[in-house]
Amino acid sequence: MNMSIVRVALDVPLSTLFDYTVDEGVAVAPGQRVIVPFGRRQMVGVVMECAAATDVSPERIKPVMQVLHDSAPLTPGVLDLLRFCSDYYRYPIGQTVLSALPARMRSDKPVISKPILSYRLTVSGAALDLDTFPKRKVVQRRILARLAEQPCNLAQLKALSATVGTQLKTLEQEGWVEHYEAPPSPILSHHGERGLAVEHIFDNAHTLTSEQQFAVDAVTQASGYACFLLHGITGSGKTEVYVHLMHDALQRGGQVLLLVPEINLTPQLENYFRSRFPVVNLISLHSGLSEGERLHNWQQAQLGAAQIVLGTRLAVFAEMPRLALIIVDEEHDSSFKQQDGLRYSARDVAIFRASQRGVPVVLGSATPSLESYHNAQGGRYQMLKLTGRALAEARLPTVRCININQTLMYHGISENLLREIGLRIERREQSLIFINRRGYAPVLMCSGCGWLSGCKHCAGKMVLHLKDQRLRCHHCGYQIRVPHACPSCGNADLHPVGSGTQRVESVLRERFPDARILRVDRDSTRNKRAWQTMREQIHANEVDILVGTQMLAKGHDFPALTLVGVLNPDSALYSSDFRAAEKLFAQLVQVAGRAGRADKPGEVLIQTAFPDHPLFRALQTHDFEGWAASQLAERQMAGFPPFVYQVMLRAEGKQESEVYRYLNDARMAAVALGHSMDPAGSVEILGVVPAALPRRANHLRAQLLIQSANRRVMQQFLRAWQPALDGSTTPKLRCSLDVDPMEF
Ligand code: ADP
Ligand code: ZN
Ligand code: ZN
Repeated sequence: MNMSIVRVALDVPLSTLFDYTVDEGVAVAPGQRVIVPFGRRQMVGVVMECAAATDVSPERIKPVMQVLHDSAPLTPGVLDLLRFCSDYYRYPIGQTVLSALPARMRSDKPVISKPILSYRLTVSGAALDLDTFPKRKVVQRRILARLAEQPCNLAQLKALSATVGTQLKTLEQEGWVEHYEAPPSPILSHHGERGLAVEHIFDNAHTLTSEQQFAVDAVTQASGYACFLLHGITGSGKTEVYVHLMHDALQRGGQVLLLVPEINLTPQLENYFRSRFPVVNLISLHSGLSEGERLHNWQQAQLGAAQIVLGTRLAVFAEMPRLALIIVDEEHDSSFKQQDGLRYSARDVAIFRASQRGVPVVLGSATPSLESYHNAQGGRYQMLKLTGRALAEARLPTVRCININQTLMYHGISENLLREIGLRIERREQSLIFINRRGYAPVLMCSGCGWLSGCKHCAGKMVLHLKDQRLRCHHCGYQIRVPHACPSCGNADLHPVGSGTQRVESVLRERFPDARILRVDRDSTRNKRAWQTMREQIHANEVDILVGTQMLAKGHDFPALTLVGVLNPDSALYSSDFRAAEKLFAQLVQVAGRAGRADKPGEVLIQTAFPDHPLFRALQTHDFEGWAASQLAERQMAGFPPFVYQVMLRAEGKQESEVYRYLNDARMAAVALGHSMDPAGSVEILGVVPAALPRRANHLRAQLLIQSANRRVMQQFLRAWQPALDGSTTPKLRCSLDVDPMEF
């Protein structure tokens, strides 16, 4: 009997491939999905290698049940990328490979992708006179006008309005529009011909500033792999640089991957880029899509039909046969790091992918991560700077500190800030009150005995939610009604400490009873439409005061906003997380960037007990360079990243003794290995310590940190250490290894 062997990646927590046989004559290649028996189940796997022989004995080896042909195989390039990630992040190969696929491709049911529908005018639709078409049917008019130019698919029409779907139905019912199945990508063929004139695929809105032009030229002239750090202040026109770079890549017949942070801005960005590239096939890949949409979009990228792929971190693994450029926007954002499973940094994987594919990668930010900044200073990345705002009349906001120890406070808000808010209301301008959520959500306190509303399952405090009068633990979800009296001493005088959005909102309502106040946080924007409506309200200037958290800091353009008040930044200055100050700086630059983007100058007021802190000084003088230099000097002294590479081993379990036994054993094995590493001592093994949140949902949590100044040595060490970790874990423990951790 003639057979060949395939090595298959399966979604199981073992760092190995599994061998199966295929009958001679059955065509199977690496990257193909197969259904195989595994134990008593059947599973979908991905063929990683074909081999002539196997170590598995002939009695035990089983045949592949089915080779799936419903989708093109993964390419060797992406398989290599996934192998690299599995090895670098120490995560089982099978789980790595399968987690990169859309859910539908992980199931053993055949993948059925919906055809792409295109829309065009019918004869009667083409005969319509748009001049006499009812003016109030704005969206319908736009659709008709657009289709009069050329047929479009739904994705292209979506750029016109969020309600395109329902309006299209109406137009179809009227008999003016019809749909048909269209071959994908009518614009550019796979051979990258210069099919269409530039003005057709590209809405060239602006003449670039000389700094922008320099940046564009630097990237377009790069041959092969190069990593660029585009450091531009907020409003300097980074997005415009991206647009020009994308245009260049598309013209050469390439595909562009644009990675953005995991925030609810994705739909807006999508619409923005669609409007700049009206006839280009742009798709998005993010967790907000349905499984069907995600599969469809993923396949569009794989076919090369999607010319622009805009996505959050998971999109970094999308197949793109003609990938020509990768852009990582807001590269400093910590949401590029996945916090469970395969704990990858999409930014770092993007850089690896660019080098593997020999294409340029651009990291953009107003406040680059210190890692990237350090790399740019050392010459590994090329620094591109945008130092001025793109619109001449737009000036950077003035930043002032209010010393909370020397001013009159009204329930956590200083009188100075309240006065400024009052002035804005008179001038019909908007104010944004920004609350740094981290660690400052309001908890309940007893004025008699000092009792705090702790969670009984966690080491954390329960957060007060005024609206439904509940205390809720944000770590484990446990909740109770707000008690009428102190559970510890019976005192009825319980009051909130710390400020949350709801509390600030109620204080402001008291002070400005006639003002229109809008609270924007995760609670108030749980539903997608709510947030859309809120944005429209803000744009229509139907809001006087905005109260919000991180969500409001990023990317929004609110023309009437001239004042930003920052309530409680200080906790980050003395946090145990060495990145807290870096994150705070980035966040405050972002939020300050919201003020005065149009013709009105903006003002930022920061309430702090430490007005002379270097962070606030740098913020006032818009001095990222100075700030970064001082932070890097501190990091170097303390031996922190980017001067060392870190790996965190975490464990949690119900039994404290088991958690510590596991970590201590792992540590002993590490110390022994460390001695044998070359050069000895090049890997530093720290002590086993409790996690920042030492108890969560009744589980004890502890961790062990390993550092090395040499990435290659660290990788060698981890490979050698892995068997000791696998050997000593028990089902009762949850353990994870986090390479280049972001959270402490
Ligand atoms: P960033 O992404 O750096 O914050 P944007 O790309 O959003 O900045 O640009 C800020 C504003 O300046 C936008 O309204 C944009 O349309 C405008 N803009 C960008 N580049 C130019 C340019 N070269 N000429 C005129 N306006 C520009
Ligand atoms: Zn009490
Ligand atoms: Zn809890």
